[in-house]
Amino acid sequence: MSRHFDAIIIGAGQAGPPLAGRLTEAGRTVAMIERKLFGGTCVNTGCMPTKTLVASAYAARLARRGSEYGVVFPGQISIDMATVKARADAVSSRARTGVETWLRGMAGCTVIQGHARFTAPRTVQVGEETLTADEVYINAGGRASVPDLPGVDRTPYLTNSSILALEGLPDHLVIVGGSYIGLEFAQMYRRFGAEVTVVEKGAHLIGREDEEISEAVRDILTAEGVKIHTGAECIRLSPHEQGVSVGVNDGAEIVGSHLLLAVGRRPNTDDLGLDAAGVKTDARGYIQVDDTLATSAAGVWALGDCNGRGAFTHTAYDDFEIVAANRLDGAARRVSQRITAYALYIDPPLGRVGLSEAEARKTGRPLLVGRRAMSQVGRAIEKGETQGLMKVVVDAETRQILGGAILGVGGDEAIHGVIDIMNAGAPYTTLQQAVPIHPTVSELIPTLLGEMKPA
Ligand SMILES: Cc1cc2nc3c(=O)[nH]c(=O)nc-3n(C[C@H](O)[C@H](O)[C@H](O)COP(=O)(O)OP(=O)(O)OC[C@H]3O[C@@H](n4cnc5c(N)ncnc54)[C@H](O)[C@@H]3O)c2cc1C
Repeated sequence: MSRHFDAIIIGAGQAGPPLAGRLTEAGRTVAMIERKLFGGTCVNTGCMPTKTLVASAYAARLARRGSEYGVVFPGQISIDMATVKARADAVSSRARTGVETWLRGMAGCTVIQGHARFTAPRTVQVGEETLTADEVYINAGGRASVPDLPGVDRTPYLTNSSILALEGLPDHLVIVGGSYIGLEFAQMYRRFGAEVTVVEKGAHLIGREDEEISEAVRDILTAEGVKIHTGAECIRLSPHEQGVSVGVNDGAEIVGSHLLLAVGRRPNTDDLGLDAAGVKTDARGYIQVDDTLATSAAGVWALGDCNGRGAFTHTAYDDFEIVAANRLDGAARRVSQRITAYALYIDPPLGRVGLSEAEARKTGRPLLVGRRAMSQVGRAIEKGETQGLMKVVVDAETRQILGGAILGVGGDEAIHGVIDIMNAGAPYTTLQQAVPIHPTVSELIPTLLGEMKPA
């Protein structure tokens, strides 16, 4: 059987469904193909379940610290992992059902479940069915990459997906990979009561961040009892009677009950038949796109994690907005106009935007840098959560903010003041002269900007 549509969308992740909405509103017929779970990584195995678990872990932490606030629980605090898991599952499942119901009820949208593979330009096979379209949008996302470490093929391991299916609490979770995903799991499982060891081959955790931020994150985690091995090269894995054993170069042997591999992501492009469609990828499998997200094949665009231009839900959604604006509204939006921002959801969180100080230095521009410890932020003191620091890096000549980091309570929200000024293209003085609300974390940003020093 063969059917023709105005547009085919491969993948119901973060860009595909809203694009289906805009295309069908414009009167186009759309085939939306999803092989697994509606909502993709974010909804099912990424942001939503993990941030729900982080919230449970925060509640556990606060409960244990209750007496510091004058809230005394009779007896011991215990964690009901079945309820923790059920809560995360319920949040994901509600969102997944919401996406699926929306797509199935969308006039002009035909939902097809199965694996899509190109067989020719703008021709896609799903099971027995051949679909053709004038335009194809690839929103295939990515998955955990499994590193080629000695012993990986004979050692049981978890990924960000399979760890969410655990029913109980590991005795000792060993996490290989000390970056964003690994650290969120490390802190949450420690707070749930597991012993946790992080093994990172780089010299620092979250290696793309400034060293002072990385060290502050390390302090936060070690203060809660997470053990951290950095500079761990030659990582070797093997099964052990207690679960797993992870050997590192210094001869240390870490024995744990469970192993989580959190060493990065790879795009879901290896089984898409991209050659048949004339769609080129780079050496790591990311689909090559231009500044408008068009691929090397006429009439084919790639959005979200699979194009390597972003690795977040908000960048995938922005890809949708760029493509929809350009294709339907006559706009001329470009990916290069995007200012990268993201957060690390340990507690307290790290909100980030733009360049790190180290990256800004590499540009050779004259810099002004302002920093303030969270222990000097009234709101943090009042909340009893004073770990971390905030910093902003400014181009001394243009007075434009180049980047910012807020590691501290409310950092994921407070960073938006900096994000907004950067997107407005306004000089830092605009933010410095603003009148923020007291008491907030944000209120100290103007103060910090007034205290910047050449760096
Ligand atoms: C543990 C974890 C935590 C995260 N936390 C955050 C966070 O806090 N904030 C944030 O912004 N980002 C976070 N992310 C990243 C975020 O989840 C992704 O960037 C986002 O989901 C990417 O969206 P996407 O639309 O590109 O792809 P996806 O959401 O991965 O969707 C792709 C869809 O395509 C489908 N598909 C793939 N191939 C085919 C095919 N051949 N045929 C049919 N269907 C196909 C897949 O089944 C999937 O449903 C996290 C990721 C992980 C793993």
